[in-house]
Amino acid sequence: MAKVLIIGAGGVGTVVAHKVAQNPDVFTDILIASRTKSKCDAVVKAIGNPAIRTAQVDADRVDELVKLFNDFHPDIVINVALPYQDLTIMEACLQTGVNYLDTANYEPKDVAHFEYSWQWAYKQRFEEAGLTAILGCGFDPGVSGVYTAYAAKHHFDEIQYLDIVDCNAGNHHKAFATNFNPEINIREITQNGRYYENGQWITTKPLEIHKALTYPNIGPRDSYLLYHEELESLVKNFPTIKRARFWMTFGQEYLTHLRVIQDIGMARIDPIDYNGMKIVPLQFLKAVLPNPQDLGENYEGETSIGCRIRGLKDGKERTYYVYNNCSHQAAYRETGMQGVSYTTGVPAMIGAMMFVKGLWKRPGVWNVEEFDPDPFMEQLNRQGLPWHEVFDGDLEL
Ligand code: NDP
Repeated sequence: MAKVLIIGAGGVGTVVAHKVAQNPDVFTDILIASRTKSKCDAVVKAIGNPAIRTAQVDADRVDELVKLFNDFHPDIVINVALPYQDLTIMEACLQTGVNYLDTANYEPKDVAHFEYSWQWAYKQRFEEAGLTAILGCGFDPGVSGVYTAYAAKHHFDEIQYLDIVDCNAGNHHKAFATNFNPEINIREITQNGRYYENGQWITTKPLEIHKALTYPNIGPRDSYLLYHEELESLVKNFPTIKRARFWMTFGQEYLTHLRVIQDIGMARIDPIDYNGMKIVPLQFLKAVLPNPQDLGENYEGETSIGCRIRGLKDGKERTYYVYNNCSHQAAYRETGMQGVSYTTGVPAMIGAMMFVKGLWKRPGVWNVEEFDPDPFMEQLNRQGLPWHEVFDGDLEL
């Protein structure tokens, strides 16, 4: 049915490629392009389907992207490179008439700042070109927004309190490693916390607020309030929300390493002089940390990510918890990647499938919760991320 171009051959790109290849009735032609072509070739070898093509591209350069898009003529591009490339890829899509999907909002390289304004600014141009752009279609953002839309559609007249809870209870047996791109991950965690309450954004110090939350099949884990990008679109798209927060678990060992990394200046993102060269300490750190793609083999345990929601249905207060647990080992057996890459890559493939099937096809720039959640929820169950519901339980929040 459709030609798909995957940009990025990291942990998430590898999972997207596997899942796209598993759905040949939807995706008939596949090209994987990234900065390093050998990594794309390795993914094709692992999948074992020589019909998948590969290419080299620098996605920071619109001219290179335009050439690639004009050679391959994809129907949709799945952008799983880094957030820095979002705008160049969107620009190339507009120049060549290609639809767009990503899993993380644009970030400028020199400031760790997360907001949708840069990408929402493209809305009118995508509308006028008759092209669809689907933003933030990983797990969180992504499934977290679809879960919220599903809750609003089926279980609530009014969503009032939303807590997105993200637990990784896995153990990769390394002293310190991040589960996805270390540079992006450390930028996210070391910034101020922020949540929404009664129409205002409240800023906290990094990791200042935390509490133990109980995760299904895992138990209690200390969970830290972070700012996460989907909060911005969810409070806009569900204006009845009085409070929206995001929580993520971290172990003490992880936090101790993180504190040392910051204290010694290795989390800095400004270039410094080193032996006559300019280097960015956080980028150097990425080069010496374990590669997140290599964690899978010895990774045990599971992730548990969900939405805990309180609100009104038929005039009565109710609570609702919808979540998925994903086993790192099962993800590794299927795709060679650990659970965090898996939980991001599967929804990205499903989002592209929704577009190809015409279910999520609407000119403009959209966040996932603005589309019908039902067919997406159905595919989550079929494609490896089954979800579970708890009604009127104790949300602990
Ligand atoms: P990786 O660092 O493993 O992979 C990134 C890939 O993009 C690499 O193949 C890299 O190439 C390629 N790349 C980087 N810069 C360029 C460029 N200029 N041109 C072409 N290719 C480039 O990251 P992950 O796979 O862990 O993460 C991918 C994306 O997924 C990120 O945007 C991340 O924020 C997002 N994400 C979203 C989540 C969600 O739930 N929504 C959760 C986790 C991640 P090379 O190999 O040469 O470096």
